[in-house]
Amino acid sequence: MSTCRFDRRTLLKGTGAALLTAGSGALLRTQPIRAADPSAAPSPAPIPGSRVPIETIRRAPKVLLHDHLDGGLRPQTVIELADETGYGGLPTEDPDALAAWFLAGADRKSLELYLEGFDQTVAVMQTPDAIARVAAECVEDLAADGIVYAEVRYAPEHSTAQGLSMDAVMEAWLAGFATGMARAADAGTPIVVRALVTAMRQTDRSREVAAVALRFRDTGVVGFDLAGPEAGFPAIDHAPAFQAIRDASFRATCHAGEAAGLFSISDALGACSADRIGHGVRLADDLFDEGGETRLGRVARDVLDRRIPLEICPSSNVHTGAVPSIPEHPVERFRRLGIAVTVNTDNRLMSGVTVSSEMATLSATFGIGLEEMRAMTIAAIDGSFAPYEERMRILHEVVEPGYDRLIAEGAA
Ligand SMILES: [Zn+2]
Repeated sequence: MSTCRFDRRTLLKGTGAALLTAGSGALLRTQPIRAADPSAAPSPAPIPGSRVPIETIRRAPKVLLHDHLDGGLRPQTVIELADETGYGGLPTEDPDALAAWFLAGADRKSLELYLEGFDQTVAVMQTPDAIARVAAECVEDLAADGIVYAEVRYAPEHSTAQGLSMDAVMEAWLAGFATGMARAADAGTPIVVRALVTAMRQTDRSREVAAVALRFRDTGVVGFDLAGPEAGFPAIDHAPAFQAIRDASFRATCHAGEAAGLFSISDALGACSADRIGHGVRLADDLFDEGGETRLGRVARDVLDRRIPLEICPSSNVHTGAVPSIPEHPVERFRRLGIAVTVNTDNRLMSGVTVSSEMATLSATFGIGLEEMRAMTIAAIDGSFAPYEERMRILHEVVEPGYDRLIAEGAA
């Protein structure tokens, strides 16, 4: 056990997060820590109008809380795994064309249509080797984007079509994460990546999946999640699974307020006691303009007062039709109200994004700079399900010095 002493929590106005503040200098120092320097990775495409250049954003230490393992495969890997496993359902074997096919399929303004692309990725994730490879590459790709801590989620039941047990899926997945973290550390870009175990709304296995999450809680799983089509499949139907998580003093997030309205967020926070909300964009339905002021309804007030983090995924929300466009996205309104906004990818392959590109898109649209990015990163590490000591270490040894350095450079 750690002997760290952390004795204060200070709420900083405008950070959108309860800022964790260390007590004495007894921080864990298990290895040299530095923010990722992804200079070896290919340069991302510039985002026109971004106040902060995307190359600078990539150098900033970032935290990712909402990313699907089956939504972030490299196109080349999909092609190679299909070849190895004899899967013949891919629309093309050209990686660029395949990436374009996924994006075109995702951007149809419907969550149900958005989810169709996963049939292809899940089809090639049916063996332990394939799952481990996808997981290791996921970690390497996140590290190359300058992410220093991530929680990546997956529904293990998706990989049971050819006879794997959910436990076998978990073992391959977590082994892949370990491989990826070792490779990233060797490359000088250390990253911590943990797993969230997802249950699907449209199946009846959530209690079984919650038990899987709890079995692997000491070997890399930090929480439970519920995903899938919202309409017609309310989270409250899965309340017993969330209760099992809560009874075991474990953590949970829940996709809500994406394809369904405010009641879905209420369900997630009430009956399911979720610690975070995946998306939550429909919380905007509970904000009312009155005489130039914003009045918060009961649910929005609860989210603000309890510091419930929202896992915002801007481009995905446009692709699924949850919001009409980035300029109409409520993320900036939430942030200005002090809600704990975090910036996420959802599905890097399907939506063609990285955390850096999403930050640049918000910078181009709303004019946010490095200070705002720092605040949202602090909200993310604070809202993560990592142990307190690890959150403190990442905050004080990686996030804060990383942004201090960039801001001192006059990067924004
Ligand atoms: Zn998601």
